[in-house]
Amino acid sequence: MQLITTIAAMRTARAALTTVGFVPTMGYLHEGHLSLVRRAAAESAAVAVSIFVNPTQFGPREDFARYPRNLERDLALLGDAGVDLVFVPAVEEIYPPGFGSYVTLPAADELLEGAARPGHFRGVATVVCKLLNIVQPTRAYFGQKDAQQVAVVQQMVRDLNMPTTIVVVPTVREPDGLAMSSRNSYLSPEQRAIAPLVYQALLAVQARYQTGECDAALLRAAARTLLECTPAMSIEYVSVADPLSLRELETVGAEGALVSLAVRLGGVRLIDNLFLGR
Ligand code: AMP
Repeated sequence: MQLITTIAAMRTARAALTTVGFVPTMGYLHEGHLSLVRRAAAESAAVAVSIFVNPTQFGPREDFARYPRNLERDLALLGDAGVDLVFVPAVEEIYPPGFGSYVTLPAADELLEGAARPGHFRGVATVVCKLLNIVQPTRAYFGQKDAQQVAVVQQMVRDLNMPTTIVVVPTVREPDGLAMSSRNSYLSPEQRAIAPLVYQALLAVQARYQTGECDAALLRAAARTLLECTPAMSIEYVSVADPLSLRELETVGAEGALVSLAVRLGGVRLIDNLFLGR
């Protein structure tokens, strides 16, 4: 496994390879990340992973400075997983003095995570665009856990004619249903004990849908009712949206729906989602 920190060295290493599967991450790796890596390894001759906590996707009051980091452990996990290239650039390598171009998707900023986190998707789209230009992968792998991020990246790649195929990988969960996330490390034992309610709320919506309920307001209410029983948890949003446009639905039709939600548990923000009708 080659550890690379400069764009020039990454380009040289990539040029020697044929098909490359690429997994962009912010590090502090868990089984969710590793499922992307394994999928990439199964589908490409070589696997590249980036570890970069991207400052431009964090708001001024968000957790950039305290985002969990453990490079040594991450490198050991990626070495065991048979990764070929690990790209770990410094912030100045990606955003040198004079940097001034951004990729924006204004429609995404109005919805869900985009509305809750102003500027987040500008940062995500910009860094993913840069990483895809630097690594030039055949395929790039993203987790369903971040459903709107997937939609943003797919739209950017389509709109800007980027030659990489985007592959979406299912959410990996803890045995109690909590979606794996680097941010789960922020949870106190008490918070960790109630965090699985997030997934239970999604399952409550699914159960209601499976009984024949298609009224989106009643489906949202099924999640809210469960979450509101836990005072420690505050709801940011519960969404039942069109799976392509991510606009809120009144009725779930043949196209199904993406159910997604964000809650705060103390200072920790948790998101999760599932599809109805697939
Ligand atoms: P992050 O390091 O949080 O930026 O995540 C890097 C990639 O891993 C993104 O494409 C995430 O959607 C994906 N990912 C994070 N958590 C999970 C999970 N629990 N299951 C599947 N993919 C995940």
